[in-house]
Amino acid sequence: MSTLPIIQLGSTGYYVRLYQMNLNGLALNYNGFAIDGNFDIKTSNATKNFQDRFDLVSDGIVGPDTWKVLTENVKAVQKLLNSRGYRAGYPDGWFGANTTQAVQQFQRDNGLYPSGIVEPRTRRRLFDPHPKHSYEVRPSSNDLSSLNPHVAALARRFLDLTRQNQLDVRITYAFRSWDDQDRLFAQGRWLPGDIVTNARGGDSYHNWGLAFDAAPYENGEITTDNEKFIKMGRLGQQVGLEWGGTFKSIVDYPHFQYTFGLKTWDLLNGVTPPA
Ligand SMILES: [Zn+2]
Repeated sequence: MSTLPIIQLGSTGYYVRLYQMNLNGLALNYNGFAIDGNFDIKTSNATKNFQDRFDLVSDGIVGPDTWKVLTENVKAVQKLLNSRGYRAGYPDGWFGANTTQAVQQFQRDNGLYPSGIVEPRTRRRLFDPHPKHSYEVRPSSNDLSSLNPHVAALARRFLDLTRQNQLDVRITYAFRSWDDQDRLFAQGRWLPGDIVTNARGGDSYHNWGLAFDAAPYENGEITTDNEKFIKMGRLGQQVGLEWGGTFKSIVDYPHFQYTFGLKTWDLLNGVTPPA
C-alpha cells in the first residue's frame, strides 16, 4: 500500500471517504457518521473509539499506525470471505462494493441480516464458525452462575467484602443476552431515551459472562448515595475487578468486569479466556 495521507478532524476528500467506508464496514460507525468524505466530529469520535480498541494513541488523528491496523482488519475479513468461497476480490484492505456484497451473501447464507457490515454476530460466524459456546443465544440472567467461573468467584469474594463493610450490595445484572444488548444500543439512536452504550450485541463483556452490574441497597431500594457506589467500586477493585466508575468514555458506576486482557474484538475472533 502506498503512503496514505494523515487525516483528521476537518480533512476532506477521497481518502476520508475510503477511511469512513472501512470503519463503517467493520461496524465501528456506532455514532452514525455519514460516508461523505468529510472528517467531522462524529468521524473523529469513532476514530478515537477505534484507536482505544486497538491500544493506539487515542487522538483522533489517522496516521500510519491507525491506517495499518484498520486496513489489516479489512484484509483479514476479505481473506476469510475468499477462503469460504465468497468473492471479496483481491484483499486490498478497502471495504468497497465487492467486499460489501460478499459480506451480504455470507450473511444471507447464515441467516443474518444482510447489512453488508461485519457487526459482532457476523464477525463471530466468520472468524469462529464452530464455537464451543453459543453465547449469542443465551438468555439474560442476574445469576452469578451465568458468568465465567473465575469472574463468578471474584464476584462472590466482592459480595463477601461488601458485607464485611456494612454495605448491602446486590447483583442487578450478570449475563446480558445479545438481543438485550442490541436493544440497549438502540436506545437514544433509533429508540427513545438517552444513549447508554456504544456496544452492540456481542460487543459488551456482559455478553461473554465477563461482567456484572451491582448496586448498594438501602431499605430495599438502590441507594441514591453516590458515596456508597464509590465505596462499592473500591471494594470491587480490591478483589481485582475492573470498575466502570473509572471508565473514560461512559462512566458506569454499577459495572464490574474481568477481561483476562482480552478485547471483545478478540472474543468475537474466537479467542477464549483461559479455563
Ligand atoms: Zn455493566
